Parts: sequence; structure tokens; C-alpha cells
Amino acid sequence: MNPIIIDGKETSRKVLHNLRTDIAQLTQHGHTPGLAVVLIGEDPASRVYVDSKVKACEELGIYSQKWVLPTETTQKELVQLIHQLNADDRIHGILVQSPPPAHIDEQAVILNIDPRKDVDGFHPINVAKLVLEDHTGFVPCTPLGCMELLNTYSIPTQGKHVVVIGRSMIVGKPMAHLLVSKQANATVTIAHSRTADLLSICRTADILIAAVGRPGLVTADFIRPGAVVLDVGINRVEDATRPRGYRIVGDVDYGSVQPLCSAITPVPGGVGPMTIAMLMSNTVKACKLTCGA
Ligand code: NDP
Repeated sequence: MNPIIIDGKETSRKVLHNLRTDIAQLTQHGHTPGLAVVLIGEDPASRVYVDSKVKACEELGIYSQKWVLPTETTQKELVQLIHQLNADDRIHGILVQSPPPAHIDEQAVILNIDPRKDVDGFHPINVAKLVLEDHTGFVPCTPLGCMELLNTYSIPTQGKHVVVIGRSMIVGKPMAHLLVSKQANATVTIAHSRTADLLSICRTADILIAAVGRPGLVTADFIRPGAVVLDVGINRVEDATRPRGYRIVGDVDYGSVQPLCSAITPVPGGVGPMTIAMLMSNTVKACKLTCGA
């Protein structure tokens, strides 16, 4: 089989290109979309993520604020900042980079974000709106990006059996809700670490989505020939041949799986680039909802 390699870089470029028109129009009418990104602590990987989000804003003409708070910032101080951002009319989206330091209660912080500015889609109001299929809510960016890839590549979901491996609130569960919605009409199985006979279940999938965080978990044995495979995993594995000493791989053993699929996302360059694009999209949506555009 000669699979379609789903190009997340190119698809994200198209999403961002389309957003430019919306942003220009909003700005012309005095409503420049704005995003605040909050980082607590010095985790290098988180810093890279935050910087790339701010850079994407700058390139698109989205107003941005970057808040880098010391590791010892208290819960109370963080919540005070969130309230300040909730009240700031220039800000339509608020994102607190995950994971925060251990002394911060992430869920309590999320509860303080105005749901209309919760562009990560983590607030219970937005979780409920996803389940209720109320499109005024915000959906977490990574599963939204996966749906965008399926749509862009005209991969049908209706009546298909989709197996999602992973049940986190950031990927697995929202992914499953999007797929089972009356827009996508898939039949969905959610698998996790306690699932019995994962391999047999995966072999029944027309579309297999891996969001686990285990390099190479999904091998050729998991694949029904002709299946579509989306690999959400981002894992560092040691690689002495690379200057950094590591390389990034997904949850799918790409070499053995790729020949069996009809379409597959590579890592890197598949799902990854879609996440920031959908964050920008959610920020523009938040701005439009606020100003009634
Ligand atoms: P979590 O650790 O929150 O969730 C992982 C899920 O995988 C859990 O539900 C867990 O089950 C399940 N799991 C773990 N081991 C197994 C196993 N052996 N068999 C079956 N299921 C298993 O991770 P996230 O959802 O946050 O992220 C998943 C991956 O996606 C990571 O590699 C992460 O880096 C990546 N990611 C990529 C993004 C992107 O932009 N492309 C964005 C977000 C995440 P249980 O619930 O039972 O513990």
C-alpha cells in the first residue's frame, strides 16, 4: 500500500493563512484578537512552547501578552493574574502553560478563567458544551487539529470505527466526543492503560488515534490493513547521532505501520503543528464571539 502522508505543516499553514483575513477584518473594526500566555517556572520545554505560541501571534497580527512568573508564585498570585486578564478587554484568550509547578492546583486555576476566554477548552463549561455539541464553546486544540486533518484530507468518519488510545482531558476524551458528534458520526472506542486486549481492539479500527506518550507502542500487529492512523504522541528518545542527544518520535512505530495504512501522520510534522494553528483559531473565535462578529 502507498499511504497518504498527512502533512500537518502544510495544513496548519493553510489554517493560519485563512485566519489572516479574519484577523485583518476584525482589526479594521477595532477588535484585534488578543492572547495571554502564562508560564510559571523555568521548564525549558514549556518555555519553547510558550515562545512558539507568542511567535505565531506576532506573525498573524494577534495581540499577545507573555507572562513568565517565578516558580515560587503562589496559587493566590496566579489567580489574581487570571482575574486581571479576565478583565482586560484586549485579551480574548488565556492560556496557562501546562504542567505548572506541583504546588499549583491546575484545575482550580482553570476554574478561575472566564470560560469565554478559555481557548484551551479545559473549563467545565467548555467541556459540557463539547458534550452538548454547543458550538459556542472551545474545544482543546490538539483534538480539534486532528479533526481538521481528517477534514482536509477528506477522510470520512461517518459509520467508521475509530479507536482512540488515551483518555486524557487534553486529547483522548475530547477527541472521542468530537468523533461521536452528529457532525462526525463515528463509532468510537476509547482505550487506556487498563484496556484488555488492546491489540485486538485496535485491529478493528478504521481510524486509529494514538495519544498515549509511549514511543512505538502501536506496531504493525495493531493495524487493520487500510486503516488511517493519527499519531498524537510526542516522545523524546535518546539518539547519540543527533546534536541534541535525542529525537522526537510518536506513539506509532512508523516504519512498520506506515506500509499497512491508507493514510498516516508522521512525527514530527503531523498532528504537532496543528495544535498551535487551532489555538490561533480558538483565539480568533473568542474575539468574534465577544464582539459579535
Ligand atoms: P496522558 O499521560 O495524560 O494520557 C495518556 C493516556 O494513555 C492515558 O489515558 C493512559 O491510560 C493511556 N495509556 C498509557 N499507557 C498505555 C498503554 N500501555 N496502553 C494503553 N493506554 C495507555 O497524556 P496526554 O493525553 O497529555 O498526551 C498523550 C501524548 O500526546 C503524549 O505523548 C503527549 O506528549 C502528546 N501530546 C501531543 C500534543 C500535540 O500537540 N501533538 C498535545 C498534547 C499531548 P490511563 O488513563 O489508564 O492512565
